[in-house]
Amino acid sequence: MAARRVVVIGGGIAGLGVAKTLKEKAPESFDITVVTKDTFYMTGPSRPLLVTGEQKYERIIRGYEEVSRAGIKVVNGLVTRIIPEERKIVIAEAPTRPALREIEYDYLVVAPGVVLDGTSIEGYEEHKGNIVNVYEPGRVDTFRRRLWTTEKGTAIIYAPPMPYRCAPAPSETTMIVHTVLKHRGVRENFRVVHIDANDKPQPPVIADVIKEVFDQAGVELITSRKIAEIGPDYVVLDDGEKISYTILALLEPNRAPKFVEEAGLGDKWFEIRNPTDLRSPKYDDILAAGDAAKLPFPKNQEIAYESSLFAANKIMEDAGVGEPVKVQYAFLGWHI
Ligand SMILES: Cc1cc2nc3c(=O)[nH]c(=O)nc-3n(C[C@H](O)[C@H](O)[C@H](O)COP(=O)(O)OP(=O)(O)OC[C@H]3O[C@@H](n4cnc5c(N)ncnc54)[C@H](O)[C@@H]3O)c2cc1C
Repeated sequence: MAARRVVVIGGGIAGLGVAKTLKEKAPESFDITVVTKDTFYMTGPSRPLLVTGEQKYERIIRGYEEVSRAGIKVVNGLVTRIIPEERKIVIAEAPTRPALREIEYDYLVVAPGVVLDGTSIEGYEEHKGNIVNVYEPGRVDTFRRRLWTTEKGTAIIYAPPMPYRCAPAPSETTMIVHTVLKHRGVRENFRVVHIDANDKPQPPVIADVIKEVFDQAGVELITSRKIAEIGPDYVVLDDGEKISYTILALLEPNRAPKFVEEAGLGDKWFEIRNPTDLRSPKYDDILAAGDAAKLPFPKNQEIAYESSLFAANKIMEDAGVGEPVKVQYAFLGWHI
């Protein structure tokens, strides 16, 4: 029988987890193509340490050369549309590499991670140049520059409603702000305010510890409040409170890319049957993996990888080939 065409959207932890597992477990049975928008991948964990200077880009960025050499096709392009009825996806050419315009599949794995969507916040478009965070390279650099050169003012750190990628990252960011300012000898010139849209700093299991550490560091903690508006040098919370900022480290609410919703595969997140069967309830041949999936777990690297193994196992089971890999959901960072 001809090899089944497996198309994977997203060359991250989850997408490559599926591709690599299928290639290893049933090399002759699948023709695997990973479609991913960039020609490189940057890991998430330890990105916050770029701000302190303890991490370096070259240690956390990899190209896809070894993936191609392993016999997995890699196409660089931005997926804009899934057409389930025609079993194909539509791709826009990304800079520097040619992309196929459409690719047909026998199995589609949707693993594009998350979109940071601040459009629900008033003033977001106008003032987004003021936003820094530990999530994206350009913003990380701006954050580092501002944190290491500003002499006084207020630093605001914002965590959006869960679920968002890497629950502790905003609290880590707050402590990075405190530590760098203290190291520079200017901490007493700053007010540091951590605003959390959730009822506790995340993740909830260590919320008490985070509160204690914030207390010792003189960090002001505001919970259960969303940032409703961003101005040129202030934010307004959803209860009307206005707070001025000099540095605004804000993470936007997260969601899956719009093409998921537009293909009828979910609303904010890709709807799955259950955590061990990541197929769309509507289509047997479309599965999710990683942060884009509506899993009842925190969005992090280990869960993303484990979900990718469940997705690969389901494809092999459906195709009647290969041996399933052993996998269970577990996260060493904290108990889930
Ligand atoms: C700052 C930060 C700190 C973190 N810290 C931790 C930690 O300490 N521990 C932990 O376990 N996890 C951590 N995480 C979370 C972890 O990185 C993610 O949970 C994990 O990367 C999710 O994997 P994924 O494959 O679903 O998504 P990603 O790794 O984001 O991969 C998705 C891929 O799809 C591509 N893509 C997106 N849209 C499209 C499109 N339309 N077309 C084509 N390609 C597309 C992207 O370019 C990317 O390559 C952190 C994340 C960040 C950002």
